[in-house]
Amino acid sequence: LLTIEGVWKNFHGHSVLRGIDLEVRPHEVVSLIGASGSGKSTLLRCVNLLETVDDGTITLEGRDVTDPRVDVDEVRQRLGIVFQAFNLFPHMTVLDNITLAPRQVHKVPRERAEEEAHALLSRFGLAHKATSYPDQLSGGQQQRVAIIRALATQPRLMLLDEVTSALDPVLVVEVLEIIRELKQTGMTMILTTHEMGFCRDISDTVCFLDGGVLLEKGPPEKIFSDPDEARTRDFLRSVL
Ligand code: ATP
Ligand code: MG
Repeated sequence: LLTIEGVWKNFHGHSVLRGIDLEVRPHEVVSLIGASGSGKSTLLRCVNLLETVDDGTITLEGRDVTDPRVDVDEVRQRLGIVFQAFNLFPHMTVLDNITLAPRQVHKVPRERAEEEAHALLSRFGLAHKATSYPDQLSGGQQQRVAIIRALATQPRLMLLDEVTSALDPVLVVEVLEIIRELKQTGMTMILTTHEMGFCRDISDTVCFLDGGVLLEKGPPEKIFSDPDEARTRDFLRSVL
């Protein structure tokens, strides 16, 4: 579904991504772990074309999205992105937040967009919040709405960057549940997280980034129990 090959990214002469290679298969859940500043968010931002790569290619469903002639909006329409800060539009109801992109970008008629939004809200236990405004919701509910909003455009790939790190521990659980459910429906995802238990539980593949290098990747059982690299072991020891 997604192939990242030899991707480099520099900021002010400093390389933040150093030749990243990563293949994401359909329905696969890939986690990026690593210390703060190791390049996790930057890699997601490159996939989403919020950053241009300095070298290498990113291929999404067979198309090179790092080609300068690519239609950025068209690429982003195939991606669902959720960040740490919820980024809901504060002056819009939950329903309007969710239906905005389907209606405006994908030209779905209002009635159908709202029907689909209600279906998603029900599925994730938020049917009663459709007419609420974001500030009337808990942090966990807001983040669930942000995930639902990303799903409403039927993305091929979800990018989730620290979606639980702004939340109180009790609220983290409900957001993790929604991600778990997405996995069950076969959604392909790349996520960054500091929740190592969750990471181990949900990931098909765990990638350890170290100073912009994808140092090691493998199934969670391997990475968490018996990593090949000493630096992976040191990192895990420091966070577990
Ligand atoms: P965290 O766990 O704290 O979220 P991260 O692994 O997501 O960290 P990135 O946000 O990808 O790390 O940042 C990687 C490096 O790139 C950092 O040194 C950061 O300061 C730098 N960086 C990121 N964005 C920019 C930017 N727009 N301009 C300059 N430097 C940047
Ligand atoms: Mg980050």
